[in-house]
Amino acid sequence: MIRLPLLPTVIKNLFKSPATNPFPKTEPIPVPDNFRGRIVYNVDKCVGCRMCVTVCPAGVFVYIPEIRKVALWTGRCVFCKQCVDVCPTGALQMSDEFLLASYDKYDEKFIYVTPQDVEEIKKKQEEIKKAKQKSQ
Ligand code: SF4
Ligand code: SF4
Repeated sequence: MIRLPLLPTVIKNLFKSPATNPFPKTEPIPVPDNFRGRIVYNVDKCVGCRMCVTVCPAGVFVYIPEIRKVALWTGRCVFCKQCVDVCPTGALQMSDEFLLASYDKYDEKFIYVTPQDVEEIKKKQEEIKKAKQKSQ
């Protein structure tokens, strides 16, 4: 005698809706709290301590001595969150963003602090320095 123990389950499931999320026709499944998505860098909060450069296993950070800030190319990021945990000022955070596909590995969404930004930050720092000297 042939045994078909799964047959009742299969017949029952034929009349159920598929248990799938048909993305991109629908929204993606919501991420949980503390999800490790794309890194966000707040250059104004950065004090240039270089802790992130030391801990990052993927070489995402490059220290820029002339402005005492870091530049990031998050295309290499492995989402381990070590830089966020070690940053003393909260300049680094992990966002909920995970739809990061791109045709260009140097897409601007992967880069923080371009050579152009360096010039702007330099100018800003010089203005702040001059304003401080005047007020003394
Ligand atoms: S999350 Fe990990 S891999 Fe990504 S930038 Fe931070 S330390 Fe580097
Ligand atoms: S650990 Fe934070 S404050 Fe220190 S250099 Fe990195 S981003 Fe800046």
